[in-house]
Amino acid sequence: MRCLVTGGAGFLGSHLCERLLDDGHEVICLDNYFTGRMSNVDHLRDNRRFELIRHDVTEPILLEVDRIFNLACPASPIHYQYNPVKTIKTSVMGAINMLGMAKRVHARILQASTSEVYGDPDVHPQTEDYWGNVNPIGIRSCYDEGKRVAETLFMDYHRQNRVDIRIVRIFNTYGPRMLANDGRVVSNFIVQALKGEDITIYGSGEQTRSFCYVSDLIEAIVRMMDQNDAIGPVNIGNPHEFTMLELAQKVIDLTGSKSKIVYLSLPGDDPKKRKPDISRAKKVLSNWEPVVQLEEGLRKTISYFEWTLK
Ligand code: NAD
Ligand code: UDP
Repeated sequence: MRCLVTGGAGFLGSHLCERLLDDGHEVICLDNYFTGRMSNVDHLRDNRRFELIRHDVTEPILLEVDRIFNLACPASPIHYQYNPVKTIKTSVMGAINMLGMAKRVHARILQASTSEVYGDPDVHPQTEDYWGNVNPIGIRSCYDEGKRVAETLFMDYHRQNRVDIRIVRIFNTYGPRMLANDGRVVSNFIVQALKGEDITIYGSGEQTRSFCYVSDLIEAIVRMMDQNDAIGPVNIGNPHEFTMLELAQKVIDLTGSKSKIVYLSLPGDDPKKRKPDISRAKKVLSNWEPVVQLEEGLRKTISYFEWTLK
């Protein structure tokens, strides 16, 4: 099949391109390189089934494809808050443009949605039928509300135009090719530990997240696209929940770092807890569940950053 991956030069997108090529597909990687890098896909460029296009999803484009994986959107708070208007345009206009293309060429299309649609949740763990607790006017809204509108557009194109959609709600995912400076907690802590700098905990460090290793996430996305029974939304993540303090301690232990922990102020609207209920994913995705647990995933990610920081 011919697959389009928007945001394909980013962290998750580049792993997805690699996997789709391994599975024998043709892959068109589309990216505007805002947070993505050509170096993430350099190793794929000799493959004759791989094509790279510089394009912004806020502009229309027509490509003859069978499948669209819509991942284009900055994902880390410092990047999505850098130009919030552009972030929401990317989610909303990107979804309209990609859904329009899917409708015209009868492609199946998957939206990379997010656990952020649940906001600061008062249901724990989060199930897909929970509608969320999102501040519509806060500093995270450009991302959260953009992704919520994108889900609405996917559902409406499905109901109104019978577009063949899939929606996955991705929970915090980490691994090689995260940007060293993208501000997400796993990359921040590892880079700080390796450089011997202070480890910056925002707030008390008691807030929780559930971290999924990239290979587990990619497996779930591929299965979601391949199955014919459910359009979603389906939560994808690792249900093991950790406080940021526990994460910091694990990173210090695994790197053998002498870094000290320091406490900084908590950014606005920072969710207090997050943990996916993955019962639906297990059912729909042939008993899928994460197999790489935090310690193993951190070791692989630490090796990657050791290599990049050399
Ligand atoms: P990333 O920033 O590494 O990748 C995003 C990619 O999209 C980058 O290559 C960037 O250059 C590209 N992009 C941004 N705006 C664009 C535009 N207007 N036109 C074309 N390309 C554009 O982030 P990621 O972690 O790989 O996230 C990929 C997707 O998964 C995003 O949609 C994100 O919202 C979603 N997601 C990720 C996580 C996570 O923990 N990594 C969690 C939930 C959802
Ligand atoms: N965080 C932290 N120190 C950092 C970066 C992030 O304590 O250097 C916290 C952040 O406040 C949040 C959690 O770690 O509570 C996860 O942050 P991230 O930006 O990785 O993901 P998100 O908040 O989008 O889930």
